Amino acid sequence: MESPTRHPAVPDTPPSPAPLLDGWETWLARFSAMASEATRNAPIACKAGCSLCCSLRVDAWAQEVFTIVRHILRFWPQDRIEQLRVRLQSHSSRVLSLSVLQHATTNIPCPLLEDGRCSVYSVRPQSCRRLHATDVSACKYVFEHPGDLDAPGSIHGPSYELLSRAMADTQNALQEIGYDPTIYELGSALHEALSHPDAWSRWTNQEHAFLFASRTPTP
Ligand code: SF4
Repeated sequence: MESPTRHPAVPDTPPSPAPLLDGWETWLARFSAMASEATRNAPIACKAGCSLCCSLRVDAWAQEVFTIVRHILRFWPQDRIEQLRVRLQSHSSRVLSLSVLQHATTNIPCPLLEDGRCSVYSVRPQSCRRLHATDVSACKYVFEHPGDLDAPGSIHGPSYELLSRAMADTQNALQEIGYDPTIYELGSALHEALSHPDAWSRWTNQEHAFLFASRTPTP
């Protein structure tokens, strides 16, 4: 059985809002249940082992990044964490040299992929849970032609819209109680969270959590 690891980046003791991260994990399970319901009778082509959409730019909020960090620090052995740190360093260097549009039109594999599978599947962000494709050949086309902004794609529209509204409502509720509403790029934010424990302090103090991570402008 994996043993929990304590790390100053995400303390479990008061006054940390660890209960907020517990609540977030509960929300993620509900979000996935909502996604299942919204796609129940749809011809969804997504299958276990397919990671074609894991080279897209991933947006995440701070609480999602810290939930992943907490999961990793609790359950991963040190050598696996060190391997992830190396991938995150390389990912961040690459992403931080690109504009948001350049990143969005370049295939850069998520540093959380291990052997083609998500290594944090149970705590992956909402933006990953929101995507459901109806035609794998369209996913392949987008993967092979990331710069083609006119590619039709095959995202299941009704579930995407429903889940996007749920994401916005949830984030508005967190913003109303003072938490960072910035949209960060997952890999560079995760790298900062694991390298700079101050990020956690800033978030708990209701400031912008990440100073160096790539940010996605809000519409
Ligand atoms: S967090 Fe997991 S599901 Fe999301 S892009 Fe990364 S590997 Fe894929």
